[in-house]
Amino acid sequence: MFLKSYTGADDARIYHNEGDCVVRYVKEQCNRHPTNWPVEPGTIVAAYAAHTRQTLYLEQKDFCNKNHPLGLGKPGKQPQRSVILPMLTPNNRVLAIMEFDKDETGFKEEKIHYALAYGSWVTAALIRKGIRESLRDAKEYNATILNCLKCFLHEKLTLNQCISAIMITMREFIRAEKVIFYHIIADKKLDADIYEATSYNRDIFTKVSRKIDLRKDFLMKDVAENHVVVNIHKGDEEQDFKKYNITDPAINSVLCVPIGNPKRLLGIVKVINKVDHPMFFDIDLVNVSNAGMYCTSIIFYTAIGKQLDNTITIANKQKVTLTRHMIPCIHDIIQFRSRPITKPPPYYLSFDWYPTKDELSRDLLADYVWWMFNDLFEGDVFMEKFDVFVLMCKKGYRKTSSYHNFEHAFCATHCMFVIVRTCSQKFSYLEQMALMCAMLCHDIDHPGNTNPFLKASEHPLSKLYKFAFLENHHSNVTRILINHCKIFDHLAPDDYKAMVDDMHRLIVATDLAKHFRKKKYLDDLVKDKRFDDSLPAHKMHLKSIIMTTCDLSGQFKPFDRTREITFSLYIELYKEGDWLKSKGLPVHSTLDRTRYLDIPQDQVNFLSMVVIPCVQLLVQMVPVLKDPYTLSCNNLDIWKRVSFSKLFH
Ligand SMILES: [Zn+2]
Repeated sequence: MFLKSYTGADDARIYHNEGDCVVRYVKEQCNRHPTNWPVEPGTIVAAYAAHTRQTLYLEQKDFCNKNHPLGLGKPGKQPQRSVILPMLTPNNRVLAIMEFDKDETGFKEEKIHYALAYGSWVTAALIRKGIRESLRDAKEYNATILNCLKCFLHEKLTLNQCISAIMITMREFIRAEKVIFYHIIADKKLDADIYEATSYNRDIFTKVSRKIDLRKDFLMKDVAENHVVVNIHKGDEEQDFKKYNITDPAINSVLCVPIGNPKRLLGIVKVINKVDHPMFFDIDLVNVSNAGMYCTSIIFYTAIGKQLDNTITIANKQKVTLTRHMIPCIHDIIQFRSRPITKPPPYYLSFDWYPTKDELSRDLLADYVWWMFNDLFEGDVFMEKFDVFVLMCKKGYRKTSSYHNFEHAFCATHCMFVIVRTCSQKFSYLEQMALMCAMLCHDIDHPGNTNPFLKASEHPLSKLYKFAFLENHHSNVTRILINHCKIFDHLAPDDYKAMVDDMHRLIVATDLAKHFRKKKYLDDLVKDKRFDDSLPAHKMHLKSIIMTTCDLSGQFKPFDRTREITFSLYIELYKEGDWLKSKGLPVHSTLDRTRYLDIPQDQVNFLSMVVIPCVQLLVQMVPVLKDPYTLSCNNLDIWKRVSFSKLFH
């Protein structure tokens, strides 16, 4: 041993600190026998030095005293004097104890210093070795915990079993005697469910009590309310034990870690009594915190899963209720099937046709819709179920909406019918069917409000969808209708999917905000003569423009009809404006009933900036569809010339 000869020692020994005891390995023949002593006063000098972390320089007469009555850990003849050097880590942990004996002249001081310095190098080497080992241990620890999560997600472990496995792995890894996990009950910062090892088996962890009020425990209250980590031990900081009223004599050290953030506490992990040290280390805090995060996450995951199941159940039940309300009365179905369906007048094939007031009062719109669909799809299996579909669709539109009602759906569907008839070669049979059905359903269950209103009033639909709240809702209700009526069940699976996907895209395309976002791109496409409707993406753009054109078709009817349609829209808009005013929010002139005299000018703006650019783009894409453009321009001229007072005459 190098140090032994350098210091001139007659003999030297090393004791390993193995947690709660110092161990000396004695070689006898070919075997090494460990002999150990607890790290505390009352046995050998090395155990006492490990306990106090002090370097001792002892004469023979001092080898045995009340602190170390067994003297040196060396059997047989005792030396005259001995130096005992604890090798300390930077955080004051004793790794080993070295003992050097000298019989005659004693140690030279500089050699003792050298021994101390050398001891530090040895300690550093041991620390590096320890770090390597602990990294390996940490890797295994993390792998074990991740495996617990994996088993939980694969449903091989229940929630309790997973928490149990994580907490026990953590407890053993950081060498704590006990661990308690507090799961904070949502929205009640100081109420918690407690998970800990059962009294009969410390390796089974379970929820032992529910809804504990943490205010009754000073330590937990401090951690919960102030979101602080508390790491205390008996001894140096005994006043903390008093502060937190910890009176249990079996508790020597406590580490309490909050999980979550100061705004939202999710849980607290409390570990008690570090086995091989007076208190817990900083690295323990990280491991405790990680284990707590994992446990909190899986509890949260489980709760979300339960909520999701409940929500799906509720949604399915509401879907059944909604469908039931949309199913037409059996008498209406019988009547629709038994009487001859009224045919629309021959000139209904033009864009500017609109049912007369008499036709509207005779409730003929469903009949006319049936005729239009039959005109396009006569003899198709689809038509066998179409009567129920159209009656359900009619019922799905709210009569309380003055504009977004079945009459508007009819108006838009009629425009679509004329377009499809005019250029049927442009669209496949299924495309025609999707365009017609999407148009008929495009505003189903419309509440008579705009998307910005839904957002401002925090309507549930604005939470359900990211954008185009209404259009997504109409599409969703349409899907319910399709499923109930089974109108596409005769299609091959791929065609069925293409049909419902296409209908969804078409309905969502009626969101004007989306239309404006695409408009510039489409204008450039047409201007640069790059538009090619044989390309699927371009074809979809064309269909979107057609959907918007049909949706706006009330603006290119004979002026008197357009005027009435426009007023019915203003009735809806003014109701919305009233609500905005009541909330002190800014109101646009089109929503402000006190500015009704601005209607002609607002209409001029609407036609110039929305309707005409849209139908103009359409005619550029499909020149044969020029009528909507011509009719819109005519109405624009009238709106420009008319004063409000004349609108009623
Ligand atoms: Zn519409």
